[in-house]
Amino acid sequence: MASKYDAIVIGAGSVGNPTAYFLSKAGLKVLVVDELSSSGQGQNKSAIGGVRATHSDPAKIQICLKSIEIYSEWQKNTGTHIGWKKGGYCFPVYRQKEEDILKSILSIQKKHGLIIDWFESNKIKKVVTGINEKGLIGGTFSPNDGQVSPLLASESFTNETMKLGAEFRYNESVTGLLFDRNNSTVKGIKTNKGEYMADSIVNAAGAHASTICKMAGLDIPINPDSHEAGITAPLKQFLDPLVVDIRPGVEGKTANFYFGQNSEGPIIFCYTPIKIFPGEDRSCTSEFMPIMARRLVSLIPRLKNVTIRRLWRGLYPMTPDGVAVVGKPSNVEGLYLGIGMCGQGLMMGPGVGFNLSSLITEGKPAMRKEVFDLLSPDRDFYSGKKEALK
Ligand SMILES: Cc1cc2nc3c(=O)[nH]c(=O)nc-3n(C[C@H](O)[C@H](O)[C@H](O)COP(=O)(O)OP(=O)(O)OC[C@H]3O[C@@H](n4cnc5c(N)ncnc54)[C@H](O)[C@@H]3O)c2cc1C
Repeated sequence: MASKYDAIVIGAGSVGNPTAYFLSKAGLKVLVVDELSSSGQGQNKSAIGGVRATHSDPAKIQICLKSIEIYSEWQKNTGTHIGWKKGGYCFPVYRQKEEDILKSILSIQKKHGLIIDWFESNKIKKVVTGINEKGLIGGTFSPNDGQVSPLLASESFTNETMKLGAEFRYNESVTGLLFDRNNSTVKGIKTNKGEYMADSIVNAAGAHASTICKMAGLDIPINPDSHEAGITAPLKQFLDPLVVDIRPGVEGKTANFYFGQNSEGPIIFCYTPIKIFPGEDRSCTSEFMPIMARRLVSLIPRLKNVTIRRLWRGLYPMTPDGVAVVGKPSNVEGLYLGIGMCGQGLMMGPGVGFNLSSLITEGKPAMRKEVFDLLSPDRDFYSGKKEALK
């Protein structure tokens, strides 16, 4: 007979691990299944570790404020270091266009509880040590944002969840969903190794989340595209915030460029290509390094002799509107979604897990429902609305 749980989480990644943790904390008997060999081995480990509530979408702001609370208090609550560094996020500005964009969203950010302000250039120079001062107008700074180690966080969430009694099954792939007699309620999962039953099934399958949705007859468009990142040799700490330059690159191929110095000392960096790389190809490109190096040195000239240690490419599980899909689809019972995290799954994960756990155990999200519903699986993904700050 198939083993029975209260909840099954598909995917031990940036979203699945915290979701399993909060479900277990609420007293549920939880099973986590992942097709890879341990936790965090999907896109979680591709993230550069940025955790910000600096968004323009109200739901993302509030979910990430919760994530920041969870990450920042993790060591105090569990005794485990996960590389949390509260250095803030700074968006420096060199052109009127970006000044207008960032200033236009300040009121909505503040309204939803984000601590953020516009700083003139003299203050930005103090926030970002060594920043190129030529043409610097100013920028925004949100001091409570920070960085975390994706792998340390994933490992610690897993360990704490196991301590609460949850079971993790690795190298096991979900191949189907099991339904009740009327075919309207999801009652379990089928894997390449067995069958497991539960009242609540959470799809947290990242880049493969659409495949799981299709098993329930849901057409939710999560399409991965790939992004490159890299890390330098460790340096003495000098850079507090994670820095985001939203100007397009002069080479004409890149949009946002972002980097920070993590708690171990290396600079870790990434950019958003203008022409996306759809699909799951994760081989590194030859253009990333020279473009990235020019953008990095033009912003922080003192980094010109830094040694690059490693480059990698990973996937953003993208939605058409750039906003995650979180909640219960109205036409399927028993199935919950924490998917479509785009480039923000690490920063969204704990907040999403906390709210999904509340939805499953209490019947409502922990945050205000009107705001939570902005992430609804029932929304029109092609309404044309996109987040101003991605
Ligand atoms: C270069 C780069 C930099 C990034 N930087 C940041 C950053 O600074 N901050 C940030 O917040 N985000 C960042 N991201 C994005 C972040 O990595 C993702 O949004 C996040 O990891 C997605 O989380 P997830 O839980 O949805 O997916 P994952 O972490 O990939 O977890 C999904 C899990 O589901 C499993 N799975 C899938 N299908 C099945 C199945 N059928 N059966 C069993 N298991 C299955 C997978 O093996 C995987 O472990 C970055 C991404 C990249 C590529």
